[in-house]
Amino acid sequence: MDISALENSVEGSVLTPGAEGYAEEVAAFNLSRQHTPDVVVAARSAADVAAAVRWAGDHGLPVGVQATGHGAVVPITSGVLVSTRGLDELSIDPHRRTARVGAGVKWRRVLDAAAQHGLAGLCGSTSDVGVVGYTLGGGLPVLGRCYGFSSDHVRSLDVVTGDGRLHHVETGDGSELDWALRGGKGNLGIVTSMEFELFEIPDLYGGAVFWPGALAPTLLTVFAEWVETLPDDFSASISLLRLPPVPEVPEPLRGQFTVHLRVAYLGEDAEGERLLAPMREVAPPMIDTVGRMPYTELDRIHLDPEHPVPFEEGGMLLRELGPDTIEAILGQAGPDTSCPLLLVEVRLMGGALARERVDAVGGRDAAYALFAVGALMPPIADAVPGAVKDLLAATAPWSTGGTMVNFHGVPGDASDRARPWPAPTFQRLQAAKATYDPANLLRFGHAIPALDPA
Ligand SMILES: Cc1cc2nc3c(=O)[nH]c(=O)nc-3n(C[C@H](O)[C@H](O)[C@H](O)COP(=O)(O)OP(=O)(O)OC[C@H]3O[C@@H](n4cnc5c(N)ncnc54)[C@H](O)[C@@H]3O)c2cc1C
Repeated sequence: MDISALENSVEGSVLTPGAEGYAEEVAAFNLSRQHTPDVVVAARSAADVAAAVRWAGDHGLPVGVQATGHGAVVPITSGVLVSTRGLDELSIDPHRRTARVGAGVKWRRVLDAAAQHGLAGLCGSTSDVGVVGYTLGGGLPVLGRCYGFSSDHVRSLDVVTGDGRLHHVETGDGSELDWALRGGKGNLGIVTSMEFELFEIPDLYGGAVFWPGALAPTLLTVFAEWVETLPDDFSASISLLRLPPVPEVPEPLRGQFTVHLRVAYLGEDAEGERLLAPMREVAPPMIDTVGRMPYTELDRIHLDPEHPVPFEEGGMLLRELGPDTIEAILGQAGPDTSCPLLLVEVRLMGGALARERVDAVGGRDAAYALFAVGALMPPIADAVPGAVKDLLAATAPWSTGGTMVNFHGVPGDASDRARPWPAPTFQRLQAAKATYDPANLLRFGHAIPALDPA
């Protein structure tokens, strides 16, 4: 393959398999997915991204994009991978309360830079995720019930669409791109930079509470009743956690089955204590870190893995968390099972997440988000994909029928690829894709199927 024309048109590196730097650029946070594209463009500018997409189009090659590989659900085994790690621009405007980031910036840098002005962005469970990839999929923040989805607060985006054109999109400009990029993931193009709102959140009342896994039936039952009493500025989720017996996992969680409650509240400590009391009263916890914490330490709530791991995931939205739903979850992952999954979590949705918006976000109608992750490591690796599927099948009777694209896991057939969006949203996304990515270059990951040519 002659890459000289591409090399001459970009500022960043153009790498083919075996070249120095190729392995670093294709490496994903999800170690189980090995990307092996024909060409990697390590972009240094929006113009590089446009040149890469145009070159791929001229050569009939598919295009993928990666910032961190947290969302590497399907390996990219051909075509061009645009690596956005070098798009590392970050600026904070404390007067307008906005941040502007390049597509390679992770949440950690935004949290630290914004905190210097007492400001905060709507980060999810880990600050190691890329801001842009997360937000294009809606972006479910820890404080989602209070502020809504991260994409609700985008101000503008710069994007190279699948036809190789560069667009500047302002939120509210009435364009189809504005609508589709807020929730439609990377289906229409590669976003090169994004501006979004920040909020005055220097600290919060939050943390994690752990109990022995044997208490899972009681804790899930109390959780389902308790969350009904919570105000919108109190976010909560609960997980059944089976951490491996490895030195990186601290005692007393190492190799144990535990229940992990995660809470985040924007009110006063005393009111937080009062609201949390019904859960704390279930039984003395093994660990309880809940208290006043700087917003920059948000990672202490969910305690997601800090280093790359091989994993498989899957998720589904729930209408309710009644006794039957809980029984179904416990039947797959409760104390009486040999469940191989690392984590089975239920996040409370609602509040500002349910607010109607004109965008492509799915999941506003859900009461809860169910999500499962398994580590693809011996001796349980082979059992993980089946366990994810079994959990989703067992709880399907209480599902909305949908999922969030950021929590979808490995996409299946055409109908499964439509699941992250309400049907009218999906159809409109397909039409927009036909306009902006007419050759269907962007067909990796959570790409939606192209419309059949008429
Ligand atoms: C440990 C962990 C915790 C998580 N917690 C949350 C959470 O709390 N809330 C939540 O909403 N999600 C969460 N996620 C999901 C995460 O938001 C998605 O996996 C997201 O895609 C990660 O984006 P990335 O750029 O870091 O990943 P990458 O793997 O680099 O990208 C994943 C996909 O995002 C799209 N994408 C990335 N960059 C661009 C771009 N510049 N232009 C167009 N498309 C792009 C592409 O479709 C790409 O395939 C979590 C994931 C992990 C692994």
